[in-house]
Amino acid sequence: MTFRFVSFRWLVLRWLAFRWLVPLAAGLLALLLVPGALAGPDFCDSFESCRANFQAAARNLVPQPDGVNLETLEIPSRLPRGNLPIDLLLIPATGHATNLVIISSGIHGAEAYAGSTLQTRFLREMLAKVDRNQTTFLLIHMINPYGAITGRRVTENNVDLNRNFSSGGALYKNISPGYAAIQDFLNPKYPAQYGFFNLTKFYGNAAQHLSANSIKTLRTAILKGQYELPKGIYYGGQSLEPAARLLTRHIVKAFKGKNYDRMLVVDLHTGYGEKGLMHVMPNPLVGSPLVIERTRLVMNATLGGYRLEDVVGDSDFYQTSGDFSSFVAETGMSTGMPSVPLLLEFGTLDSQKIFGSLQSLYRVIQENRLHWHGADNLDSKAQIEHDFREMFLPSDSIWRNQVLSQFDEHFPGFLARFQKADH
Ligand SMILES: [Zn+2]
Repeated sequence: MTFRFVSFRWLVLRWLAFRWLVPLAAGLLALLLVPGALAGPDFCDSFESCRANFQAAARNLVPQPDGVNLETLEIPSRLPRGNLPIDLLLIPATGHATNLVIISSGIHGAEAYAGSTLQTRFLREMLAKVDRNQTTFLLIHMINPYGAITGRRVTENNVDLNRNFSSGGALYKNISPGYAAIQDFLNPKYPAQYGFFNLTKFYGNAAQHLSANSIKTLRTAILKGQYELPKGIYYGGQSLEPAARLLTRHIVKAFKGKNYDRMLVVDLHTGYGEKGLMHVMPNPLVGSPLVIERTRLVMNATLGGYRLEDVVGDSDFYQTSGDFSSFVAETGMSTGMPSVPLLLEFGTLDSQKIFGSLQSLYRVIQENRLHWHGADNLDSKAQIEHDFREMFLPSDSIWRNQVLSQFDEHFPGFLARFQKADH
């Protein structure tokens, strides 16, 4: 009896230690080691506040460059508020412009707050120290305003905007055989549930599919997007989304006939990869062999040894179709200009590991299911929304500080090396 009592108490103490004391101690230690963690970094937390911060930073540039232009594109929307804005800020070079740098945020709406925070930080704290003599900057703020407002990753038409950019219609005819084979697993057609039982069922199904299809096939099927199921996850659409159409026109205008010597496109994302780490994702380079070679020289110089992500030991893996930064770079390269697409991802869930990638997939499936089929109760709905938000914008201040410190540490170097790269 005594033995039983002691054993039970020991179990309780051990549970308490692992469940509460160890995380608490780790948290306190982190607060001591990471300067500023206690105060919590200043991330904007709504569409309106992000936009207000960005616009204020644009208006208060010091010194105010000549010819700076903040304009707004209007995207049609069925939301009650009507048309939705995308802000574009053009900051011309102070001298003869030879370089164009495009920095974009929020193509995945749920990732927009982090991206917007970094753009505003760039304007407030970096731009004054950057050599602007020969470089024109174009900042595109929250490319997917519907997603930023509603917290969805996709557009109002359920389109993953980063699988939607295309100069011809061929992209939308892509068939993804891997996706079709697992579409019932990816897109359950009944109300979303939340909790241990549902999660266990998901892992059971995932294990089944992982044995039948390799993890690579599964990941490729998911991340390459699909163009067949309008209500499914990672749907790339059947034509250019309104935002893609407007932006395409606008961006081509930004460099056509300007005779820039080179272009850098930086698209800001969160969600993929090791938590708290900045990943530079490989993107396909499309153009003539000579321009590709020159672009590679500029890209390697820009990165200065910063590691390009090797997602699954296969650099072809993340070659998504229809992605924004590659599309812009391809358009630039078609004019003979070396054009470097860089996709910066700040990891949140350790999705480079199998468990993390399944967690990520689970949350994406749950959110999509909630959108189309509702939830079994309000509590499930709130939990699913919470988990989805945390996947793209973790509330913990340590993660936020890591994002800011890596951006501060590496981004100015990327710009400086890009400006001087030989090609
Ligand atoms: Zn993203």
